[in-house]
Amino acid sequence: MTTKTKTKKEVYWRCKKCGDEIYWNTHKSMTYCKCGALGVDGCEFYLRLIGDEKYREEVKRTKK
Ligand SMILES: [Zn+2]
Repeated sequence: MTTKTKTKKEVYWRCKKCGDEIYWNTHKSMTYCKCGALGVDGCEFYLRLIGDEKYREEVKRTKK
């Protein structure tokens, strides 16, 4: 197996209501935060965000 190291930004979506963070890549499964105000469905090819824009924020983080 070949390991391709892609420098991809680590993006999380944070719910401002409950503070839950969801990683951008949910491998095509719809993932909701604890309170259900934010839903993320993403993979390498698409990203779908459910919920009100004002309750979510983008969090960028560098993975160590
Ligand atoms: Zn929430």
